[in-house]
Amino acid sequence: MNPHIWHPFTIQKNSPEPKKVVSGEGIWLELDDGTRIVDCISSWWVNIHGHTNPVITEAIHEQAKKLEHVIFANFTHDPAEKIADVVTNMLPGKLNKVFFSDNGSTAVEVAIKTAVQYWQNLGKTRNKIIAFEGAYHGDTFGAMSAGARTIFSEVFENMLFEVDFVDYPHTWEGDENIAEKEDRVIEEIEKLLVENPDEYAAIIIEPLIQGAGGMRICREEFLQRLHWVNRQFETLLIFDEVMTGFGRTGKNFASIRSQVEPDIICLAKGLTGGFLPLSITVSSDAVYETFYSEDPHKTFWHGHSYTANPLGCAAAIASMEILAESQERIHKMESEHHTHLADLRELPIIENVRVKGTISAFDLTTKEEGGYLNSIAQEIKTKSHDYGLLIRPLGNTVYLMPPYCITEEELGWVYRQLKSLIEDVY
Ligand code: PMP
Repeated sequence: MNPHIWHPFTIQKNSPEPKKVVSGEGIWLELDDGTRIVDCISSWWVNIHGHTNPVITEAIHEQAKKLEHVIFANFTHDPAEKIADVVTNMLPGKLNKVFFSDNGSTAVEVAIKTAVQYWQNLGKTRNKIIAFEGAYHGDTFGAMSAGARTIFSEVFENMLFEVDFVDYPHTWEGDENIAEKEDRVIEEIEKLLVENPDEYAAIIIEPLIQGAGGMRICREEFLQRLHWVNRQFETLLIFDEVMTGFGRTGKNFASIRSQVEPDIICLAKGLTGGFLPLSITVSSDAVYETFYSEDPHKTFWHGHSYTANPLGCAAAIASMEILAESQERIHKMESEHHTHLADLRELPIIENVRVKGTISAFDLTTKEEGGYLNSIAQEIKTKSHDYGLLIRPLGNTVYLMPPYCITEEELGWVYRQLKSLIEDVY
């Protein structure tokens, strides 16, 4: 273990030696001992087009020869303007105002700050947020506050701002109670809004799938009802599409798949295809309007040194071109997941099977409590390399979120390997 490196989300003592990766190509990663493994999770969900895609590589190279970076206040540049045009054209309706930052957490920070200041700019004070149990929005303080209270945040509990949490009505194949669960959550939200009509700045949700919370899927119908409630009470709706954005749910955005247009959307991860850290928070025209003023108190005083980095923007433009060409593959993956899961679910330890677009997930029955530190996760993670896979369960939840360049045959092979791996572990 390198004595100077402190790895993220890693128990430092007694963790297995990290594997050294020497190269990547498409769905494959190559380790320094020559082992090749399929990146079944797109490296924390960012490499939507696989590794070292030549089109993105070339775009960064060309941009680096022209302009690698420039201060983004009082200056602009073509790559930023182009990616802002491209993404706003992909997004539904009135989501037209792009604010750049560097990662998913900062995209969420920007969204929360924008929502609170929106009310301030209208001369009202609304500071409270409604969020969902099981949510994960990032590791900065605002994002942590809006996320479920877990071992990740417990040390900082007293420093997080107060949020009202409601259940995330998650579902799976064969779930007969979903309509009831949704009714209950909608009632809960309505109750909060009726009791405190002028307190809530926004509701924030990971639409269609909660990622780190365990690949928990909710229905499009629920988002439509949530949107309706939101409109009745004029609260802002924030979609954290950091993970679901750019094709993951089978459409370019969960907001498109669910036909719900939020007021603010957070995007990161797949934006640059995993090449460079870049994120954007896109607000509706109506939200932006309240900031459009000569009054410095209505200005959004927020920014980062690397805001709208031209290399990141060039990578994002290329990533969006490849995304447009990958639509057919993306649409087909959902039914392929279903086909392969039919075989895997024969194993008696598999439950709560669920699929949304390019993502599939299931839970493994285990004697231990579910949860991030479940020992089955560690075992599957470590052994997956022997089966040619990079799998990283979330507790007892195993999921696949492969790059879109994976072929039908390769996906079939991944499922067969995964089945052998699970049989081995149990
Ligand atoms: N929101 C969601 C929905 C996420 O899945 C993540 C990352 N897993 C984040 C925010 C935070 O993104 P980042 O790790 O880039 O800060």
